[in-house]
Amino acid sequence: EYVLVTGATGYIGAHIVDELLRRGLRVRGTARSKDKADEMLRARPQFADRLDFAFVKDLTEPGGFGDAVKGVDAIMHTASPVDLDESMDREKEIILPAIRGTEAVLEAAKREPRVKRLVYTSSYAAVITASLLADPPAGLTFTAADWNPITYDEGLSGPPILAYRVGKRDAEARAWRAVREENTHFDLVVLCPPLVFGPVAHPVARTNALNSSVRGLWAVACGADPYPRVPTSVWVDVRDAAYAHVEALLRPEVGNTRFLLASPEPFSYQRAADVMREEFDWAKETVAKGTPGVPAPEWPKGDGKTVSEKLGFTYHTFRESVVDSIRQFKQIEERE
Ligand code: NDP
Repeated sequence: EYVLVTGATGYIGAHIVDELLRRGLRVRGTARSKDKADEMLRARPQFADRLDFAFVKDLTEPGGFGDAVKGVDAIMHTASPVDLDESMDREKEIILPAIRGTEAVLEAAKREPRVKRLVYTSSYAAVITASLLADPPAGLTFTAADWNPITYDEGLSGPPILAYRVGKRDAEARAWRAVREENTHFDLVVLCPPLVFGPVAHPVARTNALNSSVRGLWAVACGADPYPRVPTSVWVDVRDAAYAHVEALLRPEVGNTRFLLASPEPFSYQRAADVMREEFDWAKETVAKGTPGVPAPEWPKGDGKTVSEKLGFTYHTFRESVVDSIRQFKQIEERE
């Protein structure tokens, strides 16, 4: 089996590459930077015969994945803009790369008859109704049946996160439309991760180059006020997310399923600060105490159970995830 992983030099993509290689599969990653791809290869000399790269510089270019897809049996599509900032053009830099990137992957997959399955990295961004977060109805848990209700216009004019939610939702919907209405020869499995933590497997030379979803954790390690800082308590370890992607590929019976990922434990930066101060001597100096032991807000909730049952895995604990992340980020800092 030969698997194409888009965004292979990204945080989640690199973990998927490693999980596929561990299972003995052959992997072609797509990257936009030759330096990053070379670094991925250099760090995996034992897999030199099973890992190669194709270069797709621009996700929005029609036909961009045409060469990359040749000869592969399956595709994992993770590439999409994630690192957002206020200055970004909402449509050109956030929404359209998500949608057109997906369209380009679908077009390429349609041309390669070997492709049996597309495993697709969507997000809670495509799922949650953010307006419910302020005053959640009792007992509500988001499930794979939920889609965010943001309008395209709200995505264009609001903060970048709204554009991200529109882009992720419409891109995922495009993939479903292909398999449901366009009679594709491949099926689809979608995974929707919440906030993702855990150690990095992609090239990260300096802590200020850490990917966006772990940056807040490192900020707490460096002394940022841990409480409360994010309006979410749903998270998943990146290794569980990668494992789920690979199981989603290897289990024929889960074709055309959408899954949410969610660790059973709630996340908060206060809980992370508590763990760091308990586990690392240096952290007693640098990590702000905050209000130790304050329970994490348990909202929003997401159905993370279905995926762990259907794909057969147990989630890393919050403590493991924080300890493994911070230990590694500290080593990166010490090498800087
Ligand atoms: P990263 O930023 O580490 O990875 C994103 C990947 O997409 C990188 O390989 C990046 O390339 C590529 N990419 C981003 N923008 C473009 C672009 N405009 N053109 C071409 N390639 C691009 O983030 P993650 O690994 O966290 O994200 C991977 C996927 O997971 C995304 O689809 C994201 O929406 C989804 N996700 C992530 C969550 C999280 O908390 N991390 C939560 C839920 C979903 P390069 O390596 O060159 O930078």
